[in-house]
Amino acid sequence: MTKETVKSEHLLQVQELKKYYPVRGGFFRRKVGDVKAVDNISLELKRGETFGLVGESGCGKSTAGRTIMRLFKPTGGKILFEGQDITELRGSGLRDLRKDIQMVFQDPYASLNPKMMVGSIVSEPMINYGMGSESKLKDGVMELLKRVGLPEDAYYKYPHEFSGGQRQRIGIARALALKPKLIIADEPVSALDVSVQSQVLNLLKELQEEFQLTLLFIAHDLSVVKHMSDRIGVMYLGNLVEVADGEDLYKDPKHPYTQALISAIPQPDPRNKSERVILSGDVPSPQNPPTGCPFHPRCPKVMPHCSEVKPQLKEVNRDHRAACLLYE
Ligand code: SF4
Repeated sequence: MTKETVKSEHLLQVQELKKYYPVRGGFFRRKVGDVKAVDNISLELKRGETFGLVGESGCGKSTAGRTIMRLFKPTGGKILFEGQDITELRGSGLRDLRKDIQMVFQDPYASLNPKMMVGSIVSEPMINYGMGSESKLKDGVMELLKRVGLPEDAYYKYPHEFSGGQRQRIGIARALALKPKLIIADEPVSALDVSVQSQVLNLLKELQEEFQLTLLFIAHDLSVVKHMSDRIGVMYLGNLVEVADGEDLYKDPKHPYTQALISAIPQPDPRNKSERVILSGDVPSPQNPPTGCPFHPRCPKVMPHCSEVKPQLKEVNRDHRAACLLYE
């Protein structure tokens, strides 16, 4: 079979992915439970699309991203990349995979080596993968730095000599250096000033088209995710509770949690007075999640059986899935 014939519409398929962390207690530090950071999530990314993964801090979205990239070992489930099962990949197989999946981190400063010049930071992954020496790669790296909007002399400077937005541009250039197929951007603008956030988001959008990238865009801010994404998945307490086309999700959210998140987005037009849904209580601990629907202690539409039955993610409209007993 040629490579062409196995090319499916989906670049990435995640099936019932779990990432649990053991909780230990007592004198012998025995395992007494699990923190279910990611609990049974399934999603697919089509080639060239941006899938936004959104939810409050601690909902498991970053853990999901890192587990998909195989920075963490999954506790259960399956991850398929270009149809190949990468769930158990190790050694050279995992190393090859890193070439195709790259990450842009939230804190660009922490992810860049402060002792290296920017030219070396960006060429390092290419050198590691045998694509040439630093001097041979220099012209290409300079071109890439220019493409992400950095000044010409950036090659010879150190990360501390740049602003936050520029550092994130360096992080993006480094992620692009290996010409990956998938980029996982984990809160790429949340550490930046609001004034530079949209510049970095627009840059990511342009580069996605130019490099034909598929993007998994993780953020807590729904308006940022809306700006970027073709489809959106909403996470709550380690669970994926709604997945839909971006437009559809904003116009007609089905899950009460998504409805509350969307109602909290400030409206640019003050005449547009949609009622804000205020959620009571805090997000429960993933170590001790509620029975039944994980959202039931805070849900404004809770029903008596919501605390007993855990809803599954099901199609409620065409290409629109939600995990809520209101639709069963
Ligand atoms: Fe609310 Fe019940 Fe739906 Fe959960 S299943 S979101 S508690 S209505």
